Amino acid sequence: MTLRKKTLTIIGLTFVGLIVILFFISQQILLSSFAGLEEQNTRQNVERMLSVLSDDLAALEATDGDWAAWDDTYAFISGVNSGYIKTNIVEGTFVGLKLNFILFINTSGETVFAKAFDLNSEKEIPVPQSLQTHLAGSDWLRYHPDAKNSISGIVLLPEDPVLIVSRPILHSDRTGPVAGAFIMGRYLDAGEIDRLAERTLLSLSVYRADDIRMPADYRRALLSLSKDTPILVRPIDAQRVAGYSLLSDIYGKPALVLRADMTRDIYSHGQRSIAYLILSIVVAGVVLGTATMLLLEKQVLSRLARLGKGIRSIGVTGDLSQRVSVTGQDELARLADTINVMMEALEQSGQMLQDKNRQLDAQNEELMLKQQELIDKTAEVERATQAKSEFLANMSHELRTPLNVIIGFSQLMMDRVPGEINDEQRQCLSDILSSSQHLLQLINDVLDLSRVESGKVELKPKNIVLSEVLESLARTMMPTLASRGQSLDVEVAPGLPRIYADDGKVGQVLRNLLDNASKFTPDGGKLKIEAVRENHWCRVSVIDNGLGIRKEDQERIFEPFFRVDSSLGRERGGTGLGLPLVKQIVERYGGRILVESELGKGSRFIFTLPLAAG
Ligand code: ADP
Repeated sequence: MTLRKKTLTIIGLTFVGLIVILFFISQQILLSSFAGLEEQNTRQNVERMLSVLSDDLAALEATDGDWAAWDDTYAFISGVNSGYIKTNIVEGTFVGLKLNFILFINTSGETVFAKAFDLNSEKEIPVPQSLQTHLAGSDWLRYHPDAKNSISGIVLLPEDPVLIVSRPILHSDRTGPVAGAFIMGRYLDAGEIDRLAERTLLSLSVYRADDIRMPADYRRALLSLSKDTPILVRPIDAQRVAGYSLLSDIYGKPALVLRADMTRDIYSHGQRSIAYLILSIVVAGVVLGTATMLLLEKQVLSRLARLGKGIRSIGVTGDLSQRVSVTGQDELARLADTINVMMEALEQSGQMLQDKNRQLDAQNEELMLKQQELIDKTAEVERATQAKSEFLANMSHELRTPLNVIIGFSQLMMDRVPGEINDEQRQCLSDILSSSQHLLQLINDVLDLSRVESGKVELKPKNIVLSEVLESLARTMMPTLASRGQSLDVEVAPGLPRIYADDGKVGQVLRNLLDNASKFTPDGGKLKIEAVRENHWCRVSVIDNGLGIRKEDQERIFEPFFRVDSSLGRERGGTGLGLPLVKQIVERYGGRILVESELGKGSRFIFTLPLAAG
């Protein structure tokens, strides 16, 4: 997910969350307060309607009071004012006071006079039987215990409910004794309800409490309404709200259920307000969100993207001289600066590396040249060595053939095969023979050494037992040593492991060294060979108590043809090639050779050979 998408999502979610919260809050708080307002308004309207109704009743009561407390009426009920009815109870009285009936009842409860009037047709009608029946059953309306008594309210007649007032008949100064009851009545019929509705500007409908056709909502309201809950407000649907009220009759029994219908102006106004509020929040949110997004885009995201692009381009091209650019003075700009500083350092170190590389390349080239030179030289040396070896091999062959002839014929002549020789000739022949033999030895030694040096000699290492090699050496050397009265002591450390070498070559090394030891030790001298283990090596020492070697000569005796310059040494023969050959062989096995010696006391040649593995 890109940073841009994330930001957009966060802003979007925050915005949606805000709207949802606002929606619920407005629903909970605003709408319920609007509902409360609506209820209050409905209640007030119902109360207004009730008060209009009670005003009507009060007016009727006042009128009735005026008529009842009047000497003329008093006289009439007492039977002395016969013109009273004619004068006063006329049509105009009914129409003017909007009355449906007037009744005069004496103290015995008998109706002295009664008259009914139809206000719609404006004609006198017979007093309804239902009223008579009702009055006959109700002492309340007919008898007034004192002058202050007054009865007013609703009475449910079978045909229609009626507003009725009954007051005691008194003198004009409102003194008694009570002469009877004066009753006035007005039907609370559909027309009256319509008038009430017109006056209160309400849509009114009424059901009698005992009406079995009463709709369900009225019935529910009837159940809920009581003295403590005189008004009940219930929404009917989305457009209308109803206020219910219960009117009781003069006996305190439920008489009428009134319903005033009103449009839900307040509530729908509230709903519209909330809708507008949310709409404006949505619009504001979209505008603000877009603005936030644009600002973020301009201030952060696009700059971040450009920074990323710059860094990517450096990564792709690998061009360390590139720099990233971000304008401004904030953290991003500082980050870009830091990256640039880093790039600078990288570039410098890259430059340094390149320089070093170039140097190394140059050095490498130099080295390669030198190496090539060395290879050439080596090849040259190899060629030279090859040529030398070949030359030596050829030479030795060419030299050995005539030498053997010389030696052979000298020997034959010495043995007097061709004929007698004198002593002088014999001496000459002996010299020829020994010189020739020395020369042959020299040639053989040179050949040996050059072959080992040039690597021509194949070493065939195997696991050998050193003591066996020593035994065979002692056996072959014994006659020579015995002739000079020299003793040989061989001491091999017990449990010495096998040696990994060519037994022929090891024998050659030991023979050369033992030969030298014998040669450079006076008659009757003591010779000794020791072999011990030293880590993975076998250390062999060839010891004599002979002439010894001077310090300055000790280093040189391993050089070819070096022989200690002494009259004695020369006499002992030798070619000066023995020790170089020994050294070559030992070193071919990875071993080392050295000499410890003191002039006149003897020498000790020490060399090492590898032990067999395991
Ligand atoms: P050579 O054929 O003369 O023995 P080597 O290379 O074997 O040639 O020896 C070189 C010289 O080292 C000898 O001439 C001798 O002077 C000296 N040398 C070798 N071994 C001994 C030894 N055991 N005691 C004294 N001198 C020795």
